[in-house]
Amino acid sequence: MSSESSDESDGPVKTICPYCGVGCGIQITKDDEGEVSFRPWGDAPVNEGSICIKGGAATQSVNHEDRLTEPLIRDDDGELQEVSWDEAYEYVVDNMERIREEHSAQGMGFYGCSKAMNEDNYLIQKLARRYGTNSIDTCTRMCHSSTVYALKNSLGEGAMTNSMEDLEESADVFWIQGANPGEQHPIANSQYFRQAVLEGATVIQVDPHANKTTRSFEIDETDRHMHLQLEPGTDIPLLNIVLKTILENDWVDEEFIAERTEGFEHLKETLEDFDKEEAAEECGVPLEDIELAAEKYAMANNAAIFTGMGMSQHTCGVDNVQNEINLALITGNLGRPGTGVNPLRGQNNVQGASDVGAMPNVLPGYRDVSDPEVRADVEEVWDFEIPETPGLTNVEVSHEIGDTIHGLYIMGENPVMSEPDTNQVEKRLEELDFMVVQDIYETETAEYADVILPATSWAERDGTVVNTDRRTQRMRGVGKVHPNTKHDQEILCDIGNRLFGDGTFDFDGPEEVFEELRQVAPIFHGMTYDRLGEEGVHWPCYEPGDEGDDYLYGDGFTTESGLGQIEGVKHQPPKETPDEDYPLILTTGRIIEHYNTGTMSRRSATLNRVEPENFVDIHPNDAETYGVEDGEYITLKSRRGEIEVEARVTEDIKEGTVWTTPHFPESGGNRLTNDVLDERAKIPEFKAAAAEIEVTVDTDANADAPADD
Ligand code: SF4
Repeated sequence: MSSESSDESDGPVKTICPYCGVGCGIQITKDDEGEVSFRPWGDAPVNEGSICIKGGAATQSVNHEDRLTEPLIRDDDGELQEVSWDEAYEYVVDNMERIREEHSAQGMGFYGCSKAMNEDNYLIQKLARRYGTNSIDTCTRMCHSSTVYALKNSLGEGAMTNSMEDLEESADVFWIQGANPGEQHPIANSQYFRQAVLEGATVIQVDPHANKTTRSFEIDETDRHMHLQLEPGTDIPLLNIVLKTILENDWVDEEFIAERTEGFEHLKETLEDFDKEEAAEECGVPLEDIELAAEKYAMANNAAIFTGMGMSQHTCGVDNVQNEINLALITGNLGRPGTGVNPLRGQNNVQGASDVGAMPNVLPGYRDVSDPEVRADVEEVWDFEIPETPGLTNVEVSHEIGDTIHGLYIMGENPVMSEPDTNQVEKRLEELDFMVVQDIYETETAEYADVILPATSWAERDGTVVNTDRRTQRMRGVGKVHPNTKHDQEILCDIGNRLFGDGTFDFDGPEEVFEELRQVAPIFHGMTYDRLGEEGVHWPCYEPGDEGDDYLYGDGFTTESGLGQIEGVKHQPPKETPDEDYPLILTTGRIIEHYNTGTMSRRSATLNRVEPENFVDIHPNDAETYGVEDGEYITLKSRRGEIEVEARVTEDIKEGTVWTTPHFPESGGNRLTNDVLDERAKIPEFKAAAAEIEVTVDTDANADAPADD
């Protein structure tokens, strides 16, 4: 495996922003002191030079003083000691072999990384499978696994149906449910969706929280904007009102339903006795508003649905998204520009990590691991037997620690911060027999590691990533900042060769890894590094010369029957609802300045200056009830823990609901979230938990110290 970036050059190199799934192009340079700096990329394909605050600050965390620079092993006193790479590798391989001997290969769990490149994730899933387990997963489990499940089963592909470009050009109505692109996908919102709205498109927002998206279009007072501010966890009844209104008024697309779908009768039966008035009451939204929104969607020439984590992060996440699919299918809003059901993906390569097989149930290209023919096909290239039983998801792996799971290999993820119920996650990690963390910083998870392998960052190496609309793009690095760090790909190959024999994991750089990916994943087969160039290509791209598809399903769905699957769904309330002890509903989300577990964004001076600590949004009526002043510090509690945060009193949030973020370790929202899962997709219910407030906090004692400034 070549150890250096192939793009060691003096001038700026063109790469992709490491934060969100929009996939903005940026340029970076490195000076003689190893400082990496940002330069705009004026004609970048997705963003044409525009970037948000995170993109502009992305390089600030590359050469941060917290970077891991040497391999570390924890000694008998619990202290981390510097060791050579050979010692670290030997320690890892000995322990992985020991765990397999003592407990079978199912005793290990592997975490890929939604921020690492396709090639890194391809290698770690191959390593896990050669080791003997399919228990490999990434944080896609935490954000959109329910969306991917519903889209894949009902339409065929687990990804955005359309592209940002065709949505901008052709959509007349944007139905945005549980998503906040103004905050979380800022350039997609400003560059594409806002442009469409300026040219006349209507926005229907369904969210308990007024947010940056609500305000970004500046059409609040017009009839082209509706905000249905529903109670958290009532998305199914709200969409059922929409669906029933469309049925009652015969606004369905009969031809589309007859020719391209199945299951319409089931939907009609489900809604037969459905009481719209009662449901509207439950949603906390006037019935006539929902009916008007239904009319606007159904009457549009092209209506597009955007779906976010407000939909997916529920125990009924799959059903939430299925109901959006129902809406698109019965009105014929699929298979052409400006339509579809479009999840806005979070991390810069959360789409790609799943696409290349870092999931417990599918091989690269979403090919079913339990299908013997698929396995035989891939085994011909891999030359080893692939385990046939689907593995555990990362949350299941975490739950199994101390029972069936004894060791973890974590590449670049931070489950202590990203999984629900942090206090319990920490306890479980303490029980682990062995854990490897491969990362660029000593994360909150690395505090429990036995061995830490220092990796290079996104800015230092080459590879590919897939953005939210399936565009596969190349990242280019400026070379290493710290000489004794290694690229993820090199580390995985070194460990693979030591575990399975010399030559079993030999790749001469990322392009060679991509070439193997093309052989086993048909959706990438038509792509090469040369073909990707600077523009990238949308998958699926089955054969060399294919242009890739901007939008899916023009000629039919890729389900088994070729038909879109309609399936009526019924309301399932969140697993924890308010009661006397915990009378509020807690919901969580990200803010523009920080990213997920904050590992990178909290090490940016700019981002920390703007938003240095966590906070909670409270409605003025609730603030009055509790006697909370704006800016006062309070204790926010759930049955699982408590955090101390600044209260922000705002009408943006619905009365009875409080809203906080997961980004800050000392006061992360996940100390409170409920560790219950959607049965099929295994996504946790981050979006609804019962909560309570106490106003007893001394302001000086509780501010989160910024990681650095
Ligand atoms: S919108 Fe996303 S990809 Fe673009 S600059 Fe901002 S964080 Fe980076």
